[in-house]
Amino acid sequence: MGERVIPIRSDAGAAARSAPRYEGGPFADRLGRRLRDLRISVTDRCNFRCIYCMPREVFGADYPFLPQREILSFEEIARLARIFVDLGIKKIRLTGGEPLLRRDLPKLVAMLAPLGVDLTLTTNGSALAKHAEALKAAGLKRVTVSLDSLDDATFRAMNDADFPVARVLEGIEAAAAAGFSPIKINMVVKRGVNDGQVLDMARRWRGTGHIVRFIEYMDVGSTNGWRMEEVVPSAEIVRRISAVWPLEPVAPDYAGEVAERWRYRDGAGEIGVISSVTQAFCRDCTRLRLATDGALYTCLFAQRGHDLKSLLRGGASDDELRDAIVAVWRARADRYSEIRTAETAKLRKVEMSYIGG
Ligand code: SAM
Ligand code: SF4
Ligand code: SF4
Repeated sequence: MGERVIPIRSDAGAAARSAPRYEGGPFADRLGRRLRDLRISVTDRCNFRCIYCMPREVFGADYPFLPQREILSFEEIARLARIFVDLGIKKIRLTGGEPLLRRDLPKLVAMLAPLGVDLTLTTNGSALAKHAEALKAAGLKRVTVSLDSLDDATFRAMNDADFPVARVLEGIEAAAAAGFSPIKINMVVKRGVNDGQVLDMARRWRGTGHIVRFIEYMDVGSTNGWRMEEVVPSAEIVRRISAVWPLEPVAPDYAGEVAERWRYRDGAGEIGVISSVTQAFCRDCTRLRLATDGALYTCLFAQRGHDLKSLLRGGASDDELRDAIVAVWRARADRYSEIRTAETAKLRKVEMSYIGG
């Protein structure tokens, strides 16, 4: 884990216990935000090397991925998830790395399904055709598939693993056939790379019931060489699509929803845009991230995490774990996207493939 994880103070629990109003009820961070969503990274490995996430020059053959013993077991994840749900978590997203690389993932889904939360998975889709039915049967509620282009050459250039787009499209079909609906399709838009394919993507999924979400390219981690000029603002995407198929805004499902929703005026469904660069949504950020090795991260752009695994493996009781999580959340004041500059973009932030997108 090295320097990127800090221990949770041994008096954290006592501090949390002495503070009012969290027992079984809502509690807030320093900016008044409540905990609602949990993202769990089940592996830091991936079979893709997307240029904006795991550039091959950095994530090469000698990259120090986590050894097996550092990775939380399904039992450990399920125990923590139950505690998180007691603390008010309503939604759990399994992610990574590529979550479908984790062996027997449907078993974990089956362990989490009885918690009754909105249980979802984000995947690159490469192994979805193989696993869709088992995931559905295990109780997964929803699936998001990342797909940056329908053009095979562009898709291969972006995943940098020579993976054909047809296999991901098969995965989406298999997921639909297994009963997942609607499927969300995430496209990270990078100027000069795939922004010419925004309209193709909109056209392909209009009228299918699936929802494409266009994501602004972000300065996650410290390896993707992010530059503001490569970000395509969501407003531009909405303008471009609306010029062909007029759009109108849709009210969010709940405060804190990351995607801004738009629907086609002709009734052909909806799209979403995620504007984490041009329109920061930190004010409503209700997310916490559990990294592959059991470190807790309070922001996607954090430089450090909090070492929950040592407590977990050191024999802490459920109450002690709960107090530690509460203490971490209460101390939180993150609002990175609101204060982003070209300088902050260069900070050594934790990699997205490890804390979970
Ligand atoms: N491997 C899975 C996948 O690609 O769907 C799950 C993990 S991935 C880190 C989660 C999401 O983060 C994907 O939709 C991916 O496109 C997005 N992502 C990764 N790097 C990004 C970046 N620099 N900017 C915006 N989105 C990014
Ligand atoms: Fe892998 Fe997902 Fe990152 Fe692409 S975005 S490298 S598929 S973890
Ligand atoms: Fe939340 Fe951090 Fe993203 Fe802001 S930058 S929305 S605090 S994860």
